[in-house]
Amino acid sequence: MAINSPEGTRDLLPDEAKFWAHFRDTAFGIFARYGYQPIETPLFEQTDLFVRGIGQATDVVSKEMFTAISGENFKRVMEGGTIKAKSRLSLRPEGTAGVVRAVVQHDLVPQGAAPAKLMYAGPMFRAERPQKGRQRMFNQVGIECLGAEDPSVDAEGIIMLMRFYAAIGVPMDATRLLVNSMGCEQCRPKYREAVREYMNAHAEHMCEECMRRAEINPLRAFDCKNPGCAEVMEGAPKISDYLCDDCREHYQAVKTYLDGAGISYIEDPTLVRGLDYYTRTVFEVQVVEGMGSQSAIGGGGRYDKLAEIEGGRPTPGLGFALGFERMVLALEAAGTLADSPKRVDGYIACVDPSVRATAFDLVCAARDAGLSVEMDHQGKSLKSQFKMADKLGVRVVIVLGPDELAQGKARVRNMTTHAERLVDIAAAKRLLAQFGGNLVGGGAAPVSIDALFDAEGAE
Ligand code: AMP
Repeated sequence: MAINSPEGTRDLLPDEAKFWAHFRDTAFGIFARYGYQPIETPLFEQTDLFVRGIGQATDVVSKEMFTAISGENFKRVMEGGTIKAKSRLSLRPEGTAGVVRAVVQHDLVPQGAAPAKLMYAGPMFRAERPQKGRQRMFNQVGIECLGAEDPSVDAEGIIMLMRFYAAIGVPMDATRLLVNSMGCEQCRPKYREAVREYMNAHAEHMCEECMRRAEINPLRAFDCKNPGCAEVMEGAPKISDYLCDDCREHYQAVKTYLDGAGISYIEDPTLVRGLDYYTRTVFEVQVVEGMGSQSAIGGGGRYDKLAEIEGGRPTPGLGFALGFERMVLALEAAGTLADSPKRVDGYIACVDPSVRATAFDLVCAARDAGLSVEMDHQGKSLKSQFKMADKLGVRVVIVLGPDELAQGKARVRNMTTHAERLVDIAAAKRLLAQFGGNLVGGGAAPVSIDALFDAEGAE
Protein backbone atom coordinates (compact mmCIF):
# COMPACT_ATOMS: atom_id res chain seq x y z
CA MET A 1 0.00 0.00 0.00
CA ALA A 2 1.28 3.47 -0.85
CA ILE A 3 2.33 5.64 2.10
CA ASN A 4 0.52 8.98 2.32
CA SER A 5 1.63 12.23 3.97
CA PRO A 6 1.30 12.19 7.80
CA GLU A 7 -2.02 13.21 9.38
CA GLY A 8 -2.39 16.96 9.65
CA THR A 9 0.18 17.77 6.98
CA ARG A 10 -0.37 18.96 3.42
CA ASP A 11 1.80 18.91 0.35
CA LEU A 12 2.08 22.30 -1.25
CA LEU A 13 1.77 21.26 -4.89
CA PRO A 14 3.40 23.53 -7.49
CA ASP A 15 0.58 26.12 -7.76
CA GLU A 16 0.32 26.48 -3.99
CA ALA A 17 4.09 26.33 -3.49
CA LYS A 18 4.38 29.17 -6.02
CA PHE A 19 1.78 31.11 -4.07
CA TRP A 20 3.68 30.48 -0.81
CA ALA A 21 6.81 31.96 -2.46
CA HIS A 22 4.74 34.95 -3.64
CA PHE A 23 3.18 35.35 -0.18
CA ARG A 24 6.59 35.28 1.51
CA ASP A 25 8.21 37.63 -1.03
CA THR A 26 5.32 40.11 -0.80
CA ALA A 27 5.50 40.06 3.01
CA PHE A 28 9.28 40.42 3.08
CA GLY A 29 9.12 43.22 0.48
CA ILE A 30 6.67 45.20 2.62
CA PHE A 31 8.37 44.48 5.96
CA ALA A 32 11.77 45.47 4.51
CA ARG A 33 10.36 48.99 3.97
CA TYR A 34 9.88 49.14 7.74
CA GLY A 35 13.51 48.11 8.32
CA TYR A 36 13.07 44.35 8.88
CA GLN A 37 15.81 41.88 7.90
CA PRO A 38 15.55 38.12 7.44
CA ILE A 39 16.60 35.59 10.05
CA GLU A 40 16.51 31.77 9.95
CA THR A 41 16.51 29.74 13.14
CA PRO A 42 16.43 25.93 13.62
CA LEU A 43 13.19 24.02 13.14
CA PHE A 44 13.78 22.42 16.55
CA GLU A 45 14.98 23.88 19.83
CA GLN A 46 15.54 22.63 23.34
CA THR A 47 12.12 21.78 24.78
CA ASP A 48 12.86 23.95 27.83
CA LEU A 49 12.93 27.05 25.63
CA PHE A 50 9.26 26.60 24.75
CA VAL A 51 8.25 25.47 28.24
CA ARG A 52 9.82 28.57 29.82
CA GLY A 53 8.90 31.04 27.09
CA ILE A 54 5.45 30.00 25.93
CA GLY A 55 4.32 28.65 29.32
CA GLN A 56 3.58 25.26 30.85
CA ALA A 57 -0.16 25.97 31.17
CA THR A 58 -0.69 26.75 27.47
CA ASP A 59 -2.28 24.20 25.13
CA VAL A 60 0.65 24.66 22.76
CA VAL A 61 3.17 23.41 25.34
CA SER A 62 1.07 21.05 27.46
CA LYS A 63 -0.61 19.18 24.60
CA GLU A 64 0.66 20.12 21.18
CA MET A 65 4.43 19.87 21.09
CA PHE A 66 6.14 17.38 18.84
CA THR A 67 9.16 15.96 20.59
CA ALA A 68 12.22 15.34 18.46
CA ILE A 69 14.62 12.68 19.63
CA SER A 70 17.80 11.22 18.15
CA GLY A 71 17.92 7.46 17.47
CA GLU A 72 20.47 6.96 20.24
CA ASN A 73 18.40 8.84 22.83
CA PHE A 74 15.21 7.14 21.71
CA LYS A 75 16.83 3.77 22.46
CA ARG A 76 17.96 5.06 25.87
CA VAL A 77 14.42 6.23 26.76
CA MET A 78 12.86 2.98 25.52
CA GLU A 79 15.21 1.09 27.80
CA GLY A 80 14.00 3.16 30.73
CA GLY A 81 16.98 5.54 30.87
CA THR A 82 16.90 9.34 31.01
CA ILE A 83 18.35 11.95 28.68
CA LYS A 84 20.00 15.28 29.44
CA ALA A 85 17.82 18.40 29.40
CA LYS A 86 19.78 19.81 26.44
CA SER A 87 18.99 16.66 24.42
CA ARG A 88 15.26 17.08 24.98
CA LEU A 89 14.19 18.73 21.75
CA SER A 90 10.89 19.88 20.30
CA LEU A 91 9.84 20.96 16.83
CA ARG A 92 9.07 24.68 16.98
CA PRO A 93 5.36 25.36 17.54
CA GLU A 94 5.90 29.08 16.81
CA GLY A 95 8.72 31.39 15.77
CA THR A 96 9.12 33.96 18.54
CA ALA A 97 10.83 31.83 21.21
CA GLY A 98 13.57 30.73 18.78
CA VAL A 99 14.17 34.22 17.35
CA VAL A 100 14.43 35.73 20.84
CA ARG A 101 16.81 32.92 21.80
CA ALA A 102 18.98 33.82 18.79
CA VAL A 103 18.88 37.53 19.71
CA VAL A 104 20.02 36.72 23.25
CA GLN A 105 22.63 34.15 22.19
CA HIS A 106 24.25 36.43 19.58
CA ASP A 107 23.70 39.66 21.52
CA LEU A 108 21.92 41.26 18.58
CA VAL A 109 20.68 44.17 20.72
CA PRO A 110 23.73 45.36 22.68
CA GLN A 111 23.07 48.03 25.32
CA GLY A 112 22.13 51.33 23.63
CA ALA A 113 21.81 49.76 20.17
CA ALA A 114 18.99 50.37 17.71
CA PRO A 115 16.21 47.77 17.85
CA ALA A 116 16.76 44.47 16.02
CA LYS A 117 14.01 44.13 13.41
CA LEU A 118 13.80 40.57 12.16
CA MET A 119 11.47 38.65 9.85
CA TYR A 120 11.18 34.94 9.15
CA ALA A 121 9.15 32.45 7.13
CA GLY A 122 8.81 28.72 7.50
CA PRO A 123 6.96 25.75 8.95
CA MET A 124 5.65 25.43 12.52
CA PHE A 125 4.47 22.22 14.18
CA ARG A 126 1.58 21.71 16.59
CA ALA A 127 0.04 18.30 17.36
CA GLU A 128 -3.52 19.65 17.21
CA ARG A 129 -6.57 17.72 16.08
CA PRO A 130 -6.51 18.36 12.34
CA GLN A 131 -9.47 20.07 10.70
CA LYS A 132 -10.05 22.63 7.96
CA GLY A 133 -7.62 25.47 8.61
CA ARG A 134 -5.89 23.59 11.41
CA GLN A 135 -2.88 21.46 10.61
CA ARG A 136 -0.06 19.82 12.44
CA MET A 137 2.52 21.42 10.18
CA PHE A 138 1.69 24.84 8.78
CA ASN A 139 3.61 27.78 7.37
CA GLN A 140 3.97 31.18 8.94
CA VAL A 141 5.58 34.49 8.10
CA GLY A 142 6.42 36.56 11.14
CA ILE A 143 8.36 39.51 12.48
CA GLU A 144 10.02 40.32 15.79
CA CYS A 145 11.24 43.75 16.88
CA LEU A 146 13.49 43.67 19.96
CA GLY A 147 14.90 46.56 21.92
CA ALA A 148 12.14 49.20 21.98
CA GLU A 149 9.05 49.47 24.14
CA ASP A 150 7.66 52.55 22.47
CA PRO A 151 4.01 52.20 21.36
CA SER A 152 5.05 53.33 17.86
CA VAL A 153 6.64 49.87 17.42
CA ASP A 154 3.31 48.19 18.22
CA ALA A 155 1.40 50.47 15.85
CA GLU A 156 4.02 50.06 13.12
CA GLY A 157 3.72 46.26 13.44
CA ILE A 158 -0.07 46.34 13.14
CA ILE A 159 0.05 48.78 10.22
CA MET A 160 2.50 46.66 8.23
CA LEU A 161 0.45 43.53 8.93
CA MET A 162 -2.68 45.23 7.55
CA ARG A 163 -0.73 46.60 4.56
CA PHE A 164 0.36 43.06 3.81
CA TYR A 165 -3.21 41.72 3.86
CA ALA A 166 -4.30 44.47 1.50
CA ALA A 167 -1.36 43.79 -0.85
CA ILE A 168 -2.06 40.05 -1.02
CA GLY A 169 -5.73 40.64 -1.83
CA VAL A 170 -7.65 40.14 1.44
CA PRO A 171 -10.54 42.62 1.24
CA MET A 172 -10.35 44.84 4.30
CA ASP A 173 -14.11 44.68 4.86
CA ALA A 174 -13.81 40.89 5.14
CA THR A 175 -11.56 41.13 8.21
CA ARG A 176 -11.66 42.51 11.70
CA LEU A 177 -8.67 43.58 13.74
CA LEU A 178 -9.02 42.96 17.47
CA VAL A 179 -6.76 44.76 19.93
CA ASN A 180 -6.30 44.65 23.68
CA SER A 181 -3.72 45.37 26.36
CA MET A 182 -2.80 42.57 28.74
CA GLY A 183 -1.04 44.83 31.23
CA CYS A 184 2.38 44.27 32.73
CA GLU A 185 3.97 42.60 35.74
CA GLN A 186 2.74 45.53 37.89
CA CYS A 187 -0.94 45.31 37.10
CA ARG A 188 -1.53 41.83 35.69
CA PRO A 189 -1.06 39.85 38.96
CA LYS A 190 -4.03 41.73 40.50
CA TYR A 191 -6.10 41.02 37.42
CA ARG A 192 -5.06 37.36 37.35
CA GLU A 193 -6.09 37.06 41.00
CA ALA A 194 -9.47 38.62 40.24
CA VAL A 195 -10.05 36.13 37.39
CA ARG A 196 -9.02 33.23 39.65
CA GLU A 197 -11.49 34.33 42.34
CA TYR A 198 -14.21 34.74 39.73
CA MET A 199 -13.51 31.25 38.34
CA ASN A 200 -13.56 29.69 41.79
CA ALA A 201 -16.92 31.33 42.39
CA HIS A 202 -18.23 29.74 39.14
CA ALA A 203 -16.34 26.45 39.47
CA GLU A 204 -19.44 24.28 39.15
CA HIS A 205 -20.00 25.56 35.55
CA MET A 206 -16.42 25.14 34.40
CA CYS A 207 -14.47 22.14 33.10
CA GLU A 208 -11.86 20.38 35.22
CA GLU A 209 -9.07 21.52 32.96
CA CYS A 210 -10.03 25.18 33.43
CA MET A 211 -10.02 24.71 37.18
CA ARG A 212 -6.52 23.23 36.89
CA ARG A 213 -5.63 26.23 34.73
CA ALA A 214 -7.06 28.49 37.42
CA GLU A 215 -4.19 27.40 39.64
CA ILE A 216 -1.33 27.83 37.14
CA ASN A 217 -2.57 30.63 34.87
CA PRO A 218 -6.27 31.49 35.04
CA LEU A 219 -6.10 33.68 31.91
CA ARG A 220 -5.78 30.50 29.83
CA ALA A 221 -9.44 29.79 30.63
CA PHE A 222 -10.30 32.52 28.04
CA ASP A 223 -8.96 30.10 25.36
CA CYS A 224 -11.21 27.18 26.48
CA LYS A 225 -13.45 25.97 23.65
CA ASN A 226 -15.99 24.39 26.08
CA PRO A 227 -19.25 26.39 25.59
CA GLY A 228 -20.00 26.38 29.35
CA CYS A 229 -16.59 27.82 30.19
CA ALA A 230 -16.83 30.36 27.35
CA GLU A 231 -20.16 31.58 28.74
CA VAL A 232 -18.77 31.95 32.26
CA MET A 233 -15.64 33.70 30.99
CA GLU A 234 -17.74 36.28 29.13
CA GLY A 235 -18.70 37.67 32.51
CA ALA A 236 -15.14 37.56 33.92
CA PRO A 237 -13.44 40.74 35.12
CA LYS A 238 -12.02 42.85 32.28
CA ILE A 239 -8.31 43.66 32.12
CA SER A 240 -9.20 47.22 31.04
CA ASP A 241 -10.40 47.84 34.61
CA TYR A 242 -7.04 46.75 36.05
CA LEU A 243 -4.43 48.41 33.82
CA CYS A 244 -1.86 50.55 35.65
CA ASP A 245 -1.35 54.14 34.47
CA ASP A 246 1.72 53.26 32.36
CA CYS A 247 -0.05 50.42 30.57
CA ARG A 248 -3.16 52.53 30.03
CA GLU A 249 -1.06 55.32 28.54
CA HIS A 250 0.88 52.87 26.34
CA TYR A 251 -2.33 51.29 25.05
CA GLN A 252 -3.87 54.70 24.40
CA ALA A 253 -0.80 55.77 22.40
CA VAL A 254 -0.99 52.61 20.24
CA LYS A 255 -4.65 53.35 19.49
CA THR A 256 -3.89 57.00 18.69
CA TYR A 257 -1.21 55.93 16.19
CA LEU A 258 -3.64 53.46 14.59
CA ASP A 259 -6.35 56.13 14.38
CA GLY A 260 -3.85 58.46 12.71
CA ALA A 261 -3.00 55.78 10.15
CA GLY A 262 -6.70 55.19 9.42
CA ILE A 263 -6.62 51.58 10.68
CA SER A 264 -9.99 50.38 12.02
CA TYR A 265 -9.93 48.08 15.02
CA ILE A 266 -12.20 46.62 17.66
CA GLU A 267 -11.17 46.67 21.29
CA ASP A 268 -11.68 43.20 22.75
CA PRO A 269 -10.93 43.04 26.49
CA THR A 270 -11.16 39.21 26.41
CA LEU A 271 -8.42 38.83 23.80
CA VAL A 272 -5.56 37.17 25.71
CA ARG A 273 -3.94 35.06 22.93
CA GLY A 274 -2.82 31.50 23.59
CA LEU A 275 0.74 32.05 24.79
CA ASP A 276 1.92 33.21 28.23
CA TYR A 277 4.70 35.57 27.15
CA TYR A 278 2.52 38.48 26.04
CA THR A 279 2.53 41.79 27.93
CA ARG A 280 0.64 44.96 27.06
CA THR A 281 -0.51 45.12 23.40
CA VAL A 282 -2.03 42.02 21.83
CA PHE A 283 -3.84 41.87 18.50
CA GLU A 284 -5.42 39.36 16.17
CA VAL A 285 -6.81 39.58 12.63
CA GLN A 286 -9.88 37.46 11.95
CA VAL A 287 -11.84 36.77 8.80
CA VAL A 288 -15.46 37.75 9.35
CA GLU A 289 -17.17 34.98 7.34
CA GLY A 290 -16.60 31.57 5.79
CA MET A 291 -13.78 30.25 7.99
CA GLY A 292 -15.71 28.67 10.88
CA SER A 293 -13.84 28.42 14.16
CA GLN A 294 -10.42 28.79 12.51
CA SER A 295 -10.96 32.42 11.56
CA ALA A 296 -7.70 33.91 12.92
CA ILE A 297 -5.34 34.59 10.02
CA GLY A 298 -2.66 36.37 12.03
CA GLY A 299 -1.86 37.85 15.37
CA GLY A 300 0.79 38.88 17.82
CA GLY A 301 1.69 41.26 20.56
CA ARG A 302 4.29 42.65 22.90
CA TYR A 303 6.50 40.42 25.06
CA ASP A 304 8.67 42.67 27.22
CA LYS A 305 9.84 39.92 29.61
CA LEU A 306 10.58 37.10 27.18
CA ALA A 307 14.29 37.89 26.64
CA GLU A 308 14.82 37.81 30.43
CA ILE A 309 12.85 34.57 30.74
CA GLU A 310 15.25 33.13 28.17
CA GLY A 311 18.27 34.29 30.20
CA GLY A 312 19.07 37.56 28.41
CA ARG A 313 19.18 41.15 29.62
CA PRO A 314 15.86 43.05 29.77
CA THR A 315 14.91 43.61 26.10
CA PRO A 316 11.36 44.61 25.24
CA GLY A 317 9.89 43.01 22.14
CA LEU A 318 6.95 42.90 19.80
CA GLY A 319 6.06 40.39 17.10
CA PHE A 320 3.36 38.82 15.01
CA ALA A 321 2.88 35.78 12.82
CA LEU A 322 0.48 35.12 10.00
CA GLY A 323 -0.52 31.70 8.81
CA PHE A 324 -0.19 30.91 5.12
CA GLU A 325 -2.70 28.05 4.78
CA ARG A 326 -5.49 29.94 6.52
CA MET A 327 -4.78 32.96 4.34
CA VAL A 328 -5.30 30.82 1.24
CA LEU A 329 -8.66 29.69 2.68
CA ALA A 330 -9.55 33.32 3.42
CA LEU A 331 -8.71 34.39 -0.13
CA GLU A 332 -10.74 31.50 -1.51
CA ALA A 333 -13.69 32.46 0.72
CA ALA A 334 -13.42 36.07 -0.51
CA GLY A 335 -13.04 34.90 -4.14
CA THR A 336 -9.79 36.85 -4.52
CA LEU A 337 -7.30 33.98 -4.81
CA ALA A 338 -5.45 34.93 -8.00
CA ASP A 339 -4.36 32.20 -10.40
CA SER A 340 -0.62 31.86 -10.24
CA PRO A 341 0.71 33.26 -13.51
CA LYS A 342 2.30 30.75 -15.89
CA ARG A 343 5.66 31.92 -17.00
CA VAL A 344 6.94 29.80 -19.82
CA ASP A 345 8.11 32.03 -22.66
CA GLY A 346 8.83 29.56 -25.42
CA TYR A 347 8.81 25.97 -26.63
CA ILE A 348 11.29 24.35 -28.98
CA ALA A 349 9.58 21.64 -30.99
CA CYS A 350 11.43 18.92 -32.92
CA VAL A 351 10.08 17.54 -36.19
CA ASP A 352 12.13 14.34 -35.74
CA PRO A 353 14.88 12.98 -33.45
CA SER A 354 17.69 14.11 -35.79
CA VAL A 355 17.28 17.73 -34.64
CA ARG A 356 17.12 17.06 -30.88
CA ALA A 357 20.78 17.90 -30.24
CA THR A 358 20.36 21.33 -31.86
CA ALA A 359 17.09 21.84 -29.93
CA PHE A 360 18.81 20.97 -26.66
CA ASP A 361 21.62 23.40 -27.48
CA LEU A 362 19.12 26.18 -28.24
CA VAL A 363 17.06 25.51 -25.11
CA CYS A 364 20.20 25.81 -22.95
CA ALA A 365 21.25 29.05 -24.66
CA ALA A 366 17.75 30.52 -24.25
CA ARG A 367 17.62 29.64 -20.53
CA ASP A 368 21.06 31.16 -19.99
CA ALA A 369 19.71 34.33 -21.61
CA GLY A 370 16.97 34.49 -18.97
CA LEU A 371 14.10 32.91 -20.87
CA SER A 372 11.87 30.16 -19.58
CA VAL A 373 11.89 27.63 -22.39
CA GLU A 374 10.74 24.01 -22.63
CA MET A 375 11.31 21.15 -25.04
CA ASP A 376 9.92 17.65 -25.36
CA HIS A 377 11.60 14.94 -23.26
CA GLN A 378 9.36 12.03 -24.27
CA GLY A 379 9.73 11.66 -28.04
CA LYS A 380 6.19 12.97 -28.68
CA SER A 381 4.78 13.76 -32.13
CA LEU A 382 4.96 17.33 -33.45
CA LYS A 383 1.21 17.67 -32.91
CA SER A 384 1.53 16.64 -29.26
CA GLN A 385 4.42 19.05 -28.82
CA PHE A 386 2.23 21.93 -30.07
CA LYS A 387 -0.51 20.83 -27.68
CA MET A 388 1.99 20.88 -24.84
CA ALA A 389 3.21 24.36 -25.88
CA ASP A 390 -0.40 25.57 -25.87
CA LYS A 391 -0.99 24.12 -22.43
CA LEU A 392 2.08 25.91 -21.12
CA GLY A 393 0.72 29.16 -22.58
CA VAL A 394 3.95 30.02 -24.41
CA ARG A 395 4.19 33.06 -26.67
CA VAL A 396 6.62 31.57 -29.18
CA VAL A 397 7.27 28.09 -30.60
CA ILE A 398 10.48 27.41 -32.51
CA VAL A 399 10.11 24.44 -34.83
CA LEU A 400 13.29 22.63 -35.77
CA GLY A 401 13.03 20.40 -38.83
CA PRO A 402 15.80 18.58 -40.70
CA ASP A 403 15.19 20.47 -43.99
CA GLU A 404 15.33 23.93 -42.43
CA LEU A 405 18.21 22.91 -40.20
CA ALA A 406 20.24 21.83 -43.24
CA GLN A 407 20.07 25.52 -44.27
CA GLY A 408 20.87 26.74 -40.77
CA LYS A 409 17.27 27.92 -40.26
CA ALA A 410 14.37 27.30 -37.90
CA ARG A 411 10.71 28.24 -38.14
CA VAL A 412 9.50 30.58 -35.38
CA ARG A 413 5.77 30.89 -34.72
CA ASN A 414 4.17 33.64 -32.68
CA MET A 415 1.39 31.78 -30.86
CA THR A 416 -0.71 34.91 -30.32
CA THR A 417 -0.72 36.28 -33.88
CA HIS A 418 0.07 32.93 -35.57
CA ALA A 419 2.66 34.77 -37.71
CA GLU A 420 5.57 32.58 -38.79
CA ARG A 421 9.11 33.39 -39.86
CA LEU A 422 12.24 31.57 -40.85
CA VAL A 423 15.05 32.62 -38.55
CA ASP A 424 18.74 32.09 -38.91
CA ILE A 425 19.81 29.80 -36.05
CA ALA A 426 23.33 31.17 -35.84
CA ALA A 427 21.97 34.73 -35.57
CA ALA A 428 19.46 33.69 -32.91
CA LYS A 429 22.22 32.00 -30.95
CA ARG A 430 24.46 35.08 -31.26
CA LEU A 431 21.61 37.16 -29.86
CA LEU A 432 21.02 34.74 -26.99
CA ALA A 433 24.76 34.52 -26.25
CA GLN A 434 24.91 38.32 -25.94
CA PHE A 435 22.39 38.16 -23.08
CA GLY A 436 23.44 34.72 -21.87
CA GLY A 437 26.97 35.90 -21.07
CA ASN A 438 25.53 38.63 -18.85
CA LEU A 439 23.01 36.41 -17.17
CA VAL A 440 25.37 33.58 -16.32
CA GLY A 441 27.76 36.22 -15.02
CA GLY A 442 25.09 37.49 -12.64
CA GLY A 443 22.37 39.25 -14.29
CA ALA A 444 21.48 41.94 -16.86
CA ALA A 445 17.84 42.26 -17.91
CA PRO A 446 16.82 39.10 -19.78
CA VAL A 447 16.28 39.11 -23.52
CA SER A 448 12.67 39.18 -24.72
CA ILE A 449 11.46 36.09 -26.57
CA ASP A 450 10.04 38.41 -29.22
CA ALA A 451 13.57 39.56 -30.10
CA LEU A 452 14.17 36.16 -31.64
CA PHE A 453 11.71 37.17 -34.30
CA ASP A 454 13.95 40.02 -35.30
CA ALA A 455 17.23 38.10 -35.09
CA GLU A 456 19.52 39.27 -37.86
CA GLY A 457 19.09 37.09 -40.88
CA ALA A 458 15.35 36.61 -40.42
CA GLU A 459 13.47 36.25 -43.69
P1 AMP B 1 -0.76 31.88 16.75
O1 AMP B 1 0.67 31.93 17.15
O2 AMP B 1 -1.46 30.67 17.28
O3 AMP B 1 -1.52 33.13 16.94
O4 AMP B 1 -0.71 31.65 15.18
C1 AMP B 1 -0.56 32.68 14.26
C2 AMP B 1 -1.27 32.30 12.98
O5 AMP B 1 -0.78 31.05 12.50
C3 AMP B 1 -2.75 32.06 13.17
O6 AMP B 1 -3.46 33.26 13.08
C4 AMP B 1 -3.08 31.12 12.03
O7 AMP B 1 -3.26 31.84 10.85
C5 AMP B 1 -1.83 30.30 11.92
N1 AMP B 1 -1.97 29.01 12.64
C6 AMP B 1 -1.82 28.76 13.96
N2 AMP B 1 -2.03 27.47 14.25
C7 AMP B 1 -2.31 26.86 13.07
C8 AMP B 1 -2.61 25.51 12.69
N3 AMP B 1 -2.64 24.52 13.57
N4 AMP B 1 -2.87 25.27 11.39
C9 AMP B 1 -2.85 26.25 10.46
N5 AMP B 1 -2.56 27.53 10.75
C10 AMP B 1 -2.31 27.84 12.04
